[in-house]
Amino acid sequence: MGKYHIYNGDKALFCCGSRPELIKISPVYHQLRIAGKITPLLCNTGQQKDLLTPHLDIFDIKADFQLDVMVREQSLDQLMTRLFTQLPRTFDQCQPDIVIIQGDTASALAAATIAHTKNLPIAHIEAGLRTHDKASPFPEEIYRKNISTLAQWHFCPTEKARQNLLRENIAQENIFVTGNTSVDMVIKTHKELNGNICHMLPFRRNRARPFFLITLHRRESQGAPLMQITTSLLTFIRSRPEFDFILPLHPNPATSHMIKSRLGGQKNIFLIAPLPYPQFVRLMADAFAIITDSGGIQEEAPSLNTPVIVVRNKTERAEGVESGCLRLAGTGNDTILYELNLLIDDKAHYKRMQQAPNPFGDGQAADRICAHLTDIVEKNHAPTYSPKR
Ligand code: UDP
Repeated sequence: MGKYHIYNGDKALFCCGSRPELIKISPVYHQLRIAGKITPLLCNTGQQKDLLTPHLDIFDIKADFQLDVMVREQSLDQLMTRLFTQLPRTFDQCQPDIVIIQGDTASALAAATIAHTKNLPIAHIEAGLRTHDKASPFPEEIYRKNISTLAQWHFCPTEKARQNLLRENIAQENIFVTGNTSVDMVIKTHKELNGNICHMLPFRRNRARPFFLITLHRRESQGAPLMQITTSLLTFIRSRPEFDFILPLHPNPATSHMIKSRLGGQKNIFLIAPLPYPQFVRLMADAFAIITDSGGIQEEAPSLNTPVIVVRNKTERAEGVESGCLRLAGTGNDTILYELNLLIDDKAHYKRMQQAPNPFGDGQAADRICAHLTDIVEKNHAPTYSPKR
C-alpha cells in the first residue's frame, strides 16, 4: 500500500447502509460540506432500507448513489454477495479520492474492501471498538477488525479505542481520538426538540406515568438469550404496574416475532414501530431508564442523563460502565431483575447513574474529524509523489 494523498476539491464517498451509520456520519458529512475542501458524496447501500431512507430527509442528506442490497431474511453471505455485486459500479461512477466509512456493518466492510482493491485511502469513523470476542457482537467484531487493517486514518471515539488499535500495530500517527459523532447528534437534536414533539408519538398513553424505553435487536441475542431477556422483562413488567414500557420493534422478524409473542398483550407495554430519530431522542430523554442491547444508545443516553441497563454479556463500550452511566446486566434472569429493581429501589444509585459523565464524547467529534481531514488535505498542497490510480 502506497502513501496516500488527498487534495483540495477531491471527492469523499461515504458508504453506509444502516440507520446508526447515517445518524453518525451525518454531522461529518455536513461539516465537510461547510468546510468546502473535499466534496462529500453519499452511497446508500440499502442494507436497512426501511430504517435509513426516511432519515435522509430528516438529516437533509441526498443519496448520490442508491443501491438495493436488502432482501427480507437474507443470510449474511447473501448480503455480502449483493454488496460486492452492486458497490463496484458505484465506485466506477463516482471515482472517489477517499472513502469514508463508519463502524462495523457489512456495508462498511464491503466498501472498505473494494476501496482497498482500488488503492483508495479509507477513513474509518468509530474505529477501535473491541470486545475481543468474535462471537459478540456477531458479526461486527470481525468486520471492524478487518476494517482496521484496511483503513488509512482511524477516528477513535475514546482513548481506550486508540489503545486497542495500537495493540493491533496500527501506526500511531494515523489514529485520532475525536469522541463519537453519535454524541454530537444527540446533543444537537435534543436542543432542537424544544419539548414539543411528544404529542406526535404514534400511540396514546398517560404521559404523567414514568416509563422504561426498551430496544432489542442484536443477532447474537436471538434464540435462548432473547428468551431469557424477555422472560425477565415479563416478570419485571408485571411486578411494576406503576411504570409503562415502550418498545419500538426492530424490523428484523427474528427478534420482533419473539418479542411480540412474549411481551405483547400486557396492559403497560407499548410495542410500536421504529421511531424517527428526533422522536426517539425525545423518548430517551423522557424515559426513567433504558433497557437495550443497542450500541449507539449506550453512547447517546448518558448525554440525556438517562441510565442504561445493557442486556448483553459483553460491551465494547466499557467506558460507560466504568464511568457509571451504563450497567451491564448480562442476559440472565437474576442479573437483569437485580439491575432493574435496583434502579427503582435505590435512589442514590439511580442518581449516580444519571449524573455520571458521558465518556463517549462532548459534541465536537465531527469538528475534530473534519479538522483532521482538512489538515491532511492542506499538508498535501505541494505533493512530490502521488500513488493515485
Ligand atoms: N433509533 C431511532 N429510532 C428507534 C430506535 C433507535 O432513531 O426507534 C436510533 C438510536 O437513537 C441510535 C440508533 O438508532 O442512534 C441505534 O440503532 P441500533 O440500535 O439499531 O443499532 P446499533 O447502535 O446497535 O448499531
